Amino acid sequence: MLTLVEAVSLLAAVVATATGILVLRRRQSSPLALPLAVMMFGASLWATARALLPVAAPSPPATVTLHFLVFPGAAAVAGATFWYFVVLSGRRLTRRGAALLLVHPTLLFVVLVADPWHEAFLHVAIEGTTVDVSAGPLYWVHTAYCYALIATGIVLALGAMVRAVPRHRRVYVVATLAATIPMVGNILTTLVATRSDDLHLTPVFFLVSAAIWWWVERFGQHSATVPVSTRQVLEVLEDAVVVLDPLGRVLDANPAARTLLAGPDGTGLDDGTTDAPWRAHLASAPADDPGTLTTASGTVLDVRVTPMTDAVGRAAGTVVVLRDVTELERLRAVLVDQATRDGLTGLHNRRALVQRLATAVEESTSTGRPLSVVLVDVDHFKAVNDEHGHAVGDRVLVEVAGALAAATGPGETAARLGGEELVLLLPGMTADEAAGRAQDLRARVGRIAVPTASAPVRPTLSAGVAALAPGWSADDLLRAADDAMYAAKAAGRDRVARASEPTPA
Ligand code: GH3
Ligand code: MG
Ligand code: MG
Repeated sequence: MLTLVEAVSLLAAVVATATGILVLRRRQSSPLALPLAVMMFGASLWATARALLPVAAPSPPATVTLHFLVFPGAAAVAGATFWYFVVLSGRRLTRRGAALLLVHPTLLFVVLVADPWHEAFLHVAIEGTTVDVSAGPLYWVHTAYCYALIATGIVLALGAMVRAVPRHRRVYVVATLAATIPMVGNILTTLVATRSDDLHLTPVFFLVSAAIWWWVERFGQHSATVPVSTRQVLEVLEDAVVVLDPLGRVLDANPAARTLLAGPDGTGLDDGTTDAPWRAHLASAPADDPGTLTTASGTVLDVRVTPMTDAVGRAAGTVVVLRDVTELERLRAVLVDQATRDGLTGLHNRRALVQRLATAVEESTSTGRPLSVVLVDVDHFKAVNDEHGHAVGDRVLVEVAGALAAATGPGETAARLGGEELVLLLPGMTADEAAGRAQDLRARVGRIAVPTASAPVRPTLSAGVAALAPGWSADDLLRAADDAMYAAKAAGRDRVARASEPTPA
């Protein structure tokens, strides 16, 4: 007659076998499947042997055999649990490790087979049909080893848990809990049971573990079987992360940092004795905003520095994060340039001209260096638009702007003031020199012919030249050039006129 304990044991055996088979089918996708399956088959053997004891009771040899069959099951459970935690903590069971794990079951097999002769594992006393089994010293060695193995596995899992990213931690908590339940159950059972064939519920506790593990396997996130630690995150991060101690020595650097900061001879990152550029930069830049740093190879690095303190607030060092912003900086420069340019002609826009003119006037006023402007207006431009359309008008404007740009030297500025009015800003030039430049420009424009459906458009321009006089503002200078330009228009167009010298007050 089966007692409740034995009935539950039998049920546990069936469920464990079924779980083992189901889990085994997932071994392609989950590295945890194989150890989990071995664990379940071990628990199944263990539970079956326990459950069948009453059935075998009339036959002492069968009873003794069942008693011995418990232990290979227990050994499989312990070894597989260890294996499970090895995999869960992100490691692989090496061939050497597997061979070492197999030592225990092999020895156990030999010891169990030879037990009738040495009785050092189990002492069996048979009186009639009553079989009395008691533990020998090797039984305790075996038990201690099994516990040590599972405990080591749990330590591995806890270590991995500490390193894990927060959301992955609960996988370890659940898995460790699942392994702990049968261990605690086994200890309690051993304490309560006076003899080894009394109330033995350990295999039943494995059902709980199996359910939890099954849940982790089946319904846990994919990350359940792929541990992610903060270390790994740093390893794959594209930003360079360097950890310095309070004395500025490098404590740690991720691969990106080693690549980014290693000098041509690989010495950029070391014990702190080198004067790598990033170090020199950190030493000289304001601590709260180190800004950007340009390396010898032209790489622009954005530098962030975060001080770290320990639990009691002492300086523990600094985290330096460096990010390659070369491309970003290039784009920024392009955008800044675009903001100062006129969309149609590519010349500087009015805003940029006003800024540069103000700077130039200031500079000229303080140094006495001459400063001139040429203001240009295309002649009869409205007629071009009217006769050939706006698109041809645009084309003419672009061509004239091109001639202006070509006539512009270094340090000078060609700008579009608006409409078809263009300005050449000439720092360091006298009115005479500027007038020469204006004639040069007029000659260039004279060579322009913009094709149309009918005859090509040959634009001309009128230019006014003015030099900065003492006491003039930027507006005075532009107005004088404008007046001169209108004088050129009035005189018949296609010519250069100079502003009249201001009469001394
Ligand atoms: P003037 O010789 O006296 O300068 O004669 P004008 O026809 O050039 O006279 P005005 O300066 O008054 O005319 C400028 C014209 O330029 C008016 C406007 O329609 C045209 N215009 C202004 N901006 C643009 C532009 O971006 N594209 C085109 N196609 N036309 C423009
Ligand atoms: Mg005009
Ligand atoms: Mg005009």
